[in-house]
Amino acid sequence: MPNVILVTGGTGLVGKAIEHVINTEPEGSRFGKQPGETWIFASSSEGDLRDPAQTRQLYEKYKPTHVIHLAALVGGLFKNMKYKLTFLRDNILINDNVLHVSYEHKVQKVVSCLSTCVFPDKVEYPLDENKIHSGPPHESNFGYAHAKRMVDVQNHAYKEEFGCNFTSAIPTNVFGPNDNFDLEDSHVIPGLIHKCYLAKKNNTPFVVSGTGKPLRQFIFSYDLAKLFIWQLREYDDVEPVILSVGEDEEVSIKEVADAIVKAVGFEGEYSFDTSRADGQFRKPASNKKLLTLIGGFQFTPFEEALDFTVKWFLTNYNNART
Ligand code: NDP
Repeated sequence: MPNVILVTGGTGLVGKAIEHVINTEPEGSRFGKQPGETWIFASSSEGDLRDPAQTRQLYEKYKPTHVIHLAALVGGLFKNMKYKLTFLRDNILINDNVLHVSYEHKVQKVVSCLSTCVFPDKVEYPLDENKIHSGPPHESNFGYAHAKRMVDVQNHAYKEEFGCNFTSAIPTNVFGPNDNFDLEDSHVIPGLIHKCYLAKKNNTPFVVSGTGKPLRQFIFSYDLAKLFIWQLREYDDVEPVILSVGEDEEVSIKEVADAIVKAVGFEGEYSFDTSRADGQFRKPASNKKLLTLIGGFQFTPFEEALDFTVKWFLTNYNNART
């Protein structure tokens, strides 16, 4: 039987990156399309996954044999703080429908997407796959975090009761083409790219919130896409895998802003607003498990990936999510 791989949330940052990799890597290669495979990249307009009937309809239509489950209500800090119940309920509904309908349709494998921000607030660093449930998440995103953590619980329960091959991935901060570049409600990289673009266009100062000192791990969406494809094809265990660059590849917010200034070609006034909160200084995650399993992986150098993303944004400004 040929394989049909359904990617839920297939029109978002990560879904579009998987589509790009599948369409550009050589057919039959480790990350490329395999003979006989059909890939479906579903958006919410094809079915609202909060609704069981629409979820079933989607599965009836495509009859997937494999699922990469990315669809989620995603948002920045402000939105997470303001709509905690919505983040909790929508994500619980989406995940429950996708996993249960996958079970009903005897899907051979489901890889669902968690996030490093579901880890406990007070935890010993570096983060690793065993620490997801070892304390409450940060109160700012507890709705999103609890809903996502439950996927890991559900995966174990589906495996134990029905023998399902369901697992999960835990990416760190993702960036790349097709991100959400909204100025108010976006992650740090797309938000700063848009801000810097406007500063150049309007000849105004480029002001970065905070000291620029905090360190973060960022993964380029095209690299993450390959890791999802690897996990779908080559990893058969219920326990999650952190998909991230190494702890030694953290970059500071200042390094991010410097690279954006360079890529945008901004030559105006550039400063840090140190009166604004920095957030946590570091929250490193270990990619030891990933590297041991995959047997080596070449991550795209940060500056190169950032430059590519900025160029994509400048070229696609009129159609980008802003
Ligand atoms: P995006 O916001 O870019 O995309 C979200 C996707 O989910 C879109 O395709 C959207 O469809 C779909 N979706 C949202 N609600 C529904 C719904 N009710 N029914 C069906 N589809 C829905 O998200 P990302 O690509 O950034 O995130 C993908 C996954 O990665 C998520 O699970 C997220 O939690 C996780 N993640 C993201 C990180 C990041 O830095 N971005 C970091 C770590 C994890 P439509 O386009 O039609 O609205």
